[in-house]
Order: sequence, then structure tokens, then C-alpha cells
Amino acid sequence: MGEMGSSYDFKKIEEKWQKIWESELAFQVEDLPDGLEYYVLEMFPYPSGRIHMGHVRNYSIGDVVARYKRMQGYKVLHPMGWDAFGLPAENAAIKHGTHPAKWTYENIDYMRNQLKQLGFSYDWRREIATCDPEYYGWEQLFFIQMFEKGLAYRKTTKVNWCESCQTVLANEQVEDGCCWRCDNQVVEKEMPGWFFKITEYADELLEWCDKLKGWPEKVLTMQRHWIGKSQGAEVAFPVDGMDETILIFTTRPDTLFGVTFMSLSPEHPLALKLAEGTSHEEEVKKFVEEWKRSAVGSVQEPQEKKGVFTGRYAEHPLTKEKVPIYVANFVLMEYGTGAVMAVPAHDQRDFEFAKKYGIPIKVVIQPEGKELSPETMEQAWEGPGILVNSDGFDGLDNEEAKKAIVGHLEEKGIGKAKVTYRLRDWGISRQRYWGAPIPMVHCQKCGTVPVKKEDLPVVLPTDVNLGPEGRSPLHELESFYSVPCPSCGAGARRETDTMDTFVESSWYFARYTCPNETSQPLDKEKVDAWLPVDQYIGGIEHAILHLLYARFFTKVLRDLGWLSADEPFENLLTQGMVLKDGSKMSKSKGNVVDPSSMIERYGADTVRLFILFAAPPERDLEWSDQGVEGAHRFLHRVWRLVSDHLESLGSVDMAKGASEAARNLPEPLKLIRQKTHQTIQKVTDDIDKRFHFNTAISAVMELTNEVMAYIGKQGAPAKGDLQGWFVIREACEAIIKLLNPMVPHITEELWQMLGNEQRLCTISWPKADATIARPDVVEIIVQVNGKLRAKVSVPQNATEEEVKEAALQEPKVQKHIEGKAIRKIIHVPNRLLNIVAR
Ligand SMILES: [Zn+2]
Ligand SMILES: [Zn+2]
Repeated sequence: MGEMGSSYDFKKIEEKWQKIWESELAFQVEDLPDGLEYYVLEMFPYPSGRIHMGHVRNYSIGDVVARYKRMQGYKVLHPMGWDAFGLPAENAAIKHGTHPAKWTYENIDYMRNQLKQLGFSYDWRREIATCDPEYYGWEQLFFIQMFEKGLAYRKTTKVNWCESCQTVLANEQVEDGCCWRCDNQVVEKEMPGWFFKITEYADELLEWCDKLKGWPEKVLTMQRHWIGKSQGAEVAFPVDGMDETILIFTTRPDTLFGVTFMSLSPEHPLALKLAEGTSHEEEVKKFVEEWKRSAVGSVQEPQEKKGVFTGRYAEHPLTKEKVPIYVANFVLMEYGTGAVMAVPAHDQRDFEFAKKYGIPIKVVIQPEGKELSPETMEQAWEGPGILVNSDGFDGLDNEEAKKAIVGHLEEKGIGKAKVTYRLRDWGISRQRYWGAPIPMVHCQKCGTVPVKKEDLPVVLPTDVNLGPEGRSPLHELESFYSVPCPSCGAGARRETDTMDTFVESSWYFARYTCPNETSQPLDKEKVDAWLPVDQYIGGIEHAILHLLYARFFTKVLRDLGWLSADEPFENLLTQGMVLKDGSKMSKSKGNVVDPSSMIERYGADTVRLFILFAAPPERDLEWSDQGVEGAHRFLHRVWRLVSDHLESLGSVDMAKGASEAARNLPEPLKLIRQKTHQTIQKVTDDIDKRFHFNTAISAVMELTNEVMAYIGKQGAPAKGDLQGWFVIREACEAIIKLLNPMVPHITEELWQMLGNEQRLCTISWPKADATIARPDVVEIIVQVNGKLRAKVSVPQNATEEEVKEAALQEPKVQKHIEGKAIRKIIHVPNRLLNIVAR
């Protein structure tokens, strides 16, 4: 061959390009971009100590998108930062006798360095750490503005308490009755705390679920379910012989005439009172006490549905029938009113309960083509049908009946239409230390008063001693909590709760657009230039936590006038997990692969390539040592392809070659050219549609193999065969450009070796020539009245009719013949179509 390549020294190359990108500020973007803008963002990490493979996957996907869009001519905002408050820092600090701030910032330094070693194209000037007072101070301002609008408030209520984390949790942070972080059983506790009124936005959050076309349906479904809007009616049932009414909420007012009993939650204020003085009093007391013992810490529905008769009856508001009142273990006080009208014929849970306790069943809806009878029913009929046994409503379709019955109740003043939600306000008070202080002061005279805005930020004191039991030292730190009242000046006590760290992650994406703003939290012009984020990428585990909170907070900031977007994230990609031996990598399972050791051994490009190649982004990815080896071997092949033939490749004049190659190319070279352009087309499509990087990479591998095979078989084009080397160089350049977003270091190096001065990451994405990619396709010039109006690609030797059809689809052609009649068509096969229209 005569040409000898250099060896692929990935360590040297990766270090070299990382330095160049940094010194040339290659990935900086202006705050106010001119032209097309694109904002791609990955969920920022918690600085836990080291980057794990899940991070590498998340950020590799984001980096391909960022680099690809940049090459397509977009101004790309691609920032990175740290979700830096939270319990692990506090716990680690207690364990190692250090301070959470020190632990956190050391981790940030270490992890930043790891991210840089992976070659991610971040604009590092925009880096944010949420534990920085420059950041959370602005959050305190938002809190005060929300307090002023009634969107932040304090109440004493039952909360979810995690004993091991020593703090309260939001409803969204309790999974199957356990703490989302430590998996400990959560208990209920009554205590004061701060809440954000997310329920105020329930309807808007729900409506927008239908408009977020770029989100996975799975996430939207989870959010819709979590918000849990139900439409129905509130109806009052008077208690027979007592001056009390029981208020119920039902989504099935059409079944009102089928009520044969009522059930109350054991927590319902009337549960014990009703039984008082009846022969059932003792039994009810016992039942309620037993329930209380078993229900502590359990927010799940009980397995066995049980109840007890109170000895009292309610009066049906329309039929005046007496229906027995039960206390039942499956009725929750949290949702609805804590009381249920029971319709055993049309509700499966009520059906089971009625069967168990011998309560009558009354059918009020007959489905089409079936005749239900209480004697033969084996389960409730919850479907549609026609009303029966319902006085004046008989014969109505049950959907119509809902409206008719609610109207009737409203007329009589015993009920009304009502909408309820499952969503509860977001409890944001945390009783731990390492978080943003809530900027409020409790004064004996004035009540709860916000800190004066000019006194912000309320800085989290760092001169504290963390006790081993995890109690926040702020409660005992007099220099922190003892302050004059902002309103009257008298001695007062500062709030010692801190904010849920999910508050910080609810607006960081907006702060990235103006991270160095010192006089205000957000510069509206800059935020509006970038938001919503065009592509957000992260784990699905945040579906109803972060992803719901961030949507809510964006709407609040909009209504406070800080930004204009209705939603934070236009498109969302939830990437799959990284598995090893079939299960998620975790320390406890001992199946963790450390990214740093992989980078050390194979280089960042290999790790990125493997991760992107092993599975489509939404799917789980199985780690494979052989797969990593394979990725590494492929990069060696690409390296050799260019470096072994550098002299010949360097001698090609690309512009001249292109015009020569258009003429009389020998068949094998023609096929390589065709493959090159087909590959450009395929990779572009795969990235554009659904980010299928794996199939994109595999297409480039195929092209590489074909070029290598050609060179191997032919012994490469001869020296001085400019036409031949043009085709090979064209293929090599395509391979280098198409791979650049995935493996940026090696491709920059090869690009430079080919004699190019401009940085690869700044050049344009290649465009496929359709006529080369598909040789059976020709490009036809379309004229209207002799003037060139369009070019269309059609199969070779297409008929006049076929060409005309293609031509008439072109908007420019349409425009010029609009309102005219086609008089004549002149067709030169494979060349030209002229439409004469008057
Ligand atoms: Zn916990
Ligand atoms: Zn005061």
C-alpha cells in the first residue's frame, strides 16, 4: 500500500480536543440568539459523588441532539448544572464528619471533570448549583410572591412523615406507602407546614396534557391519573332522627335511585357520633380503633373490605326511603367527603360489600340486550344503559340521566354539580437542614410575615453542627432563628423549615437562559427567547414528581410575569435504564460498571458509541463487555481507513472531483457513491425521527465496511486515480461527519488530518444527493410558460402523466397556474416539463 497510518491514541486525541473546545469556547451560545434557536436539556444530576452509566446514557443522547442541531445551523443552548440540595449530602456529612457544602462542592468538582472527559458540548459558562445563594435567593423571592398571591400558604394537617429521613414528604414522594428515597414505611403525623397551591392549576395542567404532542403518552396518562379530575354531584342525605346531614360526592348521579346503604370513613366526624346511644355503639368504637391501629402508615386500599352498621339510617333525598349507614374500612377521608352513597347493583366494591352483609341490591340501569335482576347478578353492572326504577327518570339513557338528575337536585336545593380532583396541594416544608430556607418569620403580634425583599437571600448558615440523629440544627441555632419581625420590629422567630429540593428543579431550565443575572431572577426577554425547552431528556421515574412540579411552577412564573411560556418542555424523551445481567446497575447488587474506568481503558468515544449503539433511547440497555470491545474495534477501523490512506485522500480536489465523478464512474465506485448518499439520507432520517441513533450508527458501519472491502479487494485505487480517491474521500468525509455527534473526538482528529482547518463541530451537516442515492431517479426541470419554477425527482423514464402529477404538487408550480387553464404540455423525457397555461 505504501502509506503507513498512525495508531489511534484515544487518550491523547480526547485530551487535545477537549482543550481546544474549551479554549475556543466552541459551545458557547449568546443569550439572545439570532436566527434559528434550539434548546436541548438533560435532567441535571444530583452531585452524589460520581457519574454513573445512567448519567452517561442520558447526557450522550442529549449531546448527539445538541451537536446534530448545531451542524444543522441552529444556535443551540445546551447547559449543565447541579441539583445540589438534598438529604444525601446531609447524611454523608453526618457519616464522614464533614459539612454538606464541602461534600457537595467537592463532588461537583469531581463530576464536572468526569463530564468534561466525556466530551459533552455544554456551555459551561451557564453552570448552576442550586445550593448557591445566588440561585436559591431568587427562589425565596418567588416564594414571597406566591405567598402574596395566596399560592403559598401554611396549614396544620396530616402529613406523610419518614422517620428515617426525619422529614415530611409530598404525596408524590410516597410510593406504595413508602418513602421514595429510602423505601421506609411512611407514617402519618399532624404538623404545620408550607404548601404550594398546585390545585389552583389542576384544570390547566390537565388541559395541556392533551396539547403536549411531543411527550410520551405513558407520562401524560400518569399525570392525568394523578390529577384525577372527576365530574359528578354533591348530594346531601339527612340522618333519620338526628339533626345531621351526610354530604357525599358521586360520579354516578344516574344511579342515585339505586342507593341501598351508605358508608362512612372510620375517620368521618359522624362515624362515632351516629352510633352513640344505639346498641351498635361498642361495636363501632371497636371497629374504628382497630382500623386506626392498622391504617397508620398505610395509604393503600385494604385487601379485605369490612364494615360495621352504625344503628342509624339516612333518608334518601328523593325517595325518602331509609338506608342503613355503615362505617367501612375502604372509604378514605382524604378524597371526596369521606362518605359514599352505595349502589351495589352498579358498583363492584359496593356489590361485594352488600353481598357480604346481606344488604338489598336495587337495579336502576338496564344494559342493552340484557335483563339484570338482583337475584341472579354475579357482579355489578358499571356500564351504560337505560334507567329503570328511577321515578320520573325511567327510560332515559344513563348519560342524559346524569344531567337530568343533577338538575333536579339543584332545583330542590339538595345537591349540585361538582368537580373534584385527586391532586392535593404540594407540601414543600422539609424539616432538614440542607435546603433553601423558607423566607418567613413568625411574629406573636403580626402572625406569619415574609422577609423583606431587600433582605433576601436568607442565607443558609454554614457554621452548624449536624447531630447524628438527623434533626436540623436550624431549630436550635439562635443566631439564625432569632430575628426582629419584618413588620413590627419585635422579637420574632424565623421559619426553620427548608424547601423541598423539587422546588429548585422546577425552574432551573429558565435560569440557564440568564444564569449571570444579578439584579433579578430571570430576564424575561432571554427566557422567552429559549423557552419552552425544545427537547428534554431524562428518566421516567420523574413522571409525576419533577415533570408535574416543573409544569406547575412554569405556569406560576408566567402568571407572576417572569416568562411567557405556558409549558416548560415541548418534547420529552424518557430514556431507558442501563442494566447489567438483566437488572439495574446498583451498588447493592454489585453490578456497577464505573464510567471512569471504561473511559480510562477504551476512551470516551468508545463508551459513548457503545451506549448509543446498544439500544434505542427509550428502551432499557444491557451492558455488554463484548459490545464495548466491538465499538472500540469499529473506531479503530474508521481510524485506519483514513490514516492508512492519508496521502492519497489528501491529494483529492473535492470540487473538481465531484464534477468528474458525475461522468462515467466505473460500476464498483458508482455503488460506493450511491451507498454514501444513501447512508447520509438514512442517518439524517434516523436522527430526525425518534432519535434512533442505534440504526444510524449501524448504517455508518455498513458504509465503512463496504469502503474497506473495496479497498481490500482492489488494493485501493491506484495512486493518482483522482476519480477513485474522490469517491473514497467523499465516503470518508460522510462517515466522519455522520459520526461526529456520537464520537466527537476521533472525528475531529480525522477531519483535521484530512487537511481541513475549520472545526468539524461547526461545519454543516451533509446533504444527500437524491439522484445519486437513487440512480433510478432523475431530476426534472419544471417550467410554467417557459420559466423555471421547480425541480422534481421522478423515476427514470416516467411518463408525461407521472411527471405532470409530481409537478402539480409543487407549491410554486401551483401558484403560477392558479386560475388558468393548462393549454399544452411539453415533455422532454428525463429532462424537462413545460406547462403552458393561460
Ligand atoms: Zn425516607
Ligand atoms: Zn410583628
